[in-house]
Amino acid sequence: MGKQVDVVVAGAGGFIGGHLVGTLLDQGLTVRAIDNKPRHAWHQLHEGAENVTADLSLLEHARAAVRGARQVYMLAADMGGMGYIENNKAACMLSVLISTHMLKAAHEEGVERYFYSSSACVYAAGKQTDPDVTALREEDAYPAQAEDGYGWEKLFSERMCRHFTEDYGLVTRVARYHNVYGPHGTWTGGREKAPAAVCRKVAEAALSGDHRIEIWGDGRQTRSFMYIDDCLHGTRMIMDGDSGVPVNLGSSELVSINQLVDLVEQIAGIRCERHYRLDAPQGVRGRNSDNTLIRELYGWEPSIPLIDGLERTYAWVYDQVKRAHQ
Ligand code: NAD
Repeated sequence: MGKQVDVVVAGAGGFIGGHLVGTLLDQGLTVRAIDNKPRHAWHQLHEGAENVTADLSLLEHARAAVRGARQVYMLAADMGGMGYIENNKAACMLSVLISTHMLKAAHEEGVERYFYSSSACVYAAGKQTDPDVTALREEDAYPAQAEDGYGWEKLFSERMCRHFTEDYGLVTRVARYHNVYGPHGTWTGGREKAPAAVCRKVAEAALSGDHRIEIWGDGRQTRSFMYIDDCLHGTRMIMDGDSGVPVNLGSSELVSINQLVDLVEQIAGIRCERHYRLDAPQGVRGRNSDNTLIRELYGWEPSIPLIDGLERTYAWVYDQVKRAHQ
């Protein structure tokens, strides 16, 4: 580490980071890809990148990681779906060490631009109690009542970006991602999110012939889901854009979890018997992304239809499930 590179991707061994490294390399940029997981556990490993294993919660590692880089995409965090973040609040909040040290290191090492991946979990829970939602606008994050643990860390860290800009002149960009899904995501092990979990359950049902599946909650909770290609496009656009204010990056195609299951069943060509687990973690009752600001700033918003993204995701998850059962 230490030589000049165009871009550092922190959290490159994860779902979004792995895709982002591929996109940046395709565009001819030099990339340092960093994650604390051993390399065999990275979701994608791109030979063209400088791949580094380092714990970015340590300031010295964060400094070495960003040294010589023009831009930093900060995606590293201890995170997962509702089942993970509702039961690991302290661990999620400890990501503040990564966020803080990476920001400090970027400032000290003279990084030109810094992107931070925040989350829809920063939004006040009181605005998300009805499945028939009013989509969340950026100002709804305050008065603050973020998702306990994970959401508070995100809200704190995005404010820290703002203060590093105001006090030290570091150019920061913040996107509030709403549920991202696609191939190469986490699909098993306890950190997976709803689209991957539903794809896995339906794939297991299709392969085993046992069509009973478990749904967390009553299935009427609502969400929107953004396909990875939209996430990558929006991330690059926000990084290269002129606005430092946190902006929603999410789909506005609202579906209930039951409708999500309907779509995956349609793709798989089977019908499942649904068993609702009302005691399972299910997060807020309803959440959608209001995309007025991203349209105003960039004349663009995520638009890949859920059915199209799910087709590609289901095919990938199906292959993983099949391989795991061989
Ligand atoms: P991910 O868990 O797949 O990737 C995060 C990566 O960070 C992991 O590979 C993990 O090993 C790495 N990491 C954790 N601690 C580290 C440390 N101390 N040093 C170095 N690396 C470390 O998650 P993702 O889905 O790719 O999400 C990327 C970012 O986007 C995260 O910050 C996440 O909070 C945010 N986000 C994601 C979603 C989503 O739906 N996927 C939604 C909102 C926000």
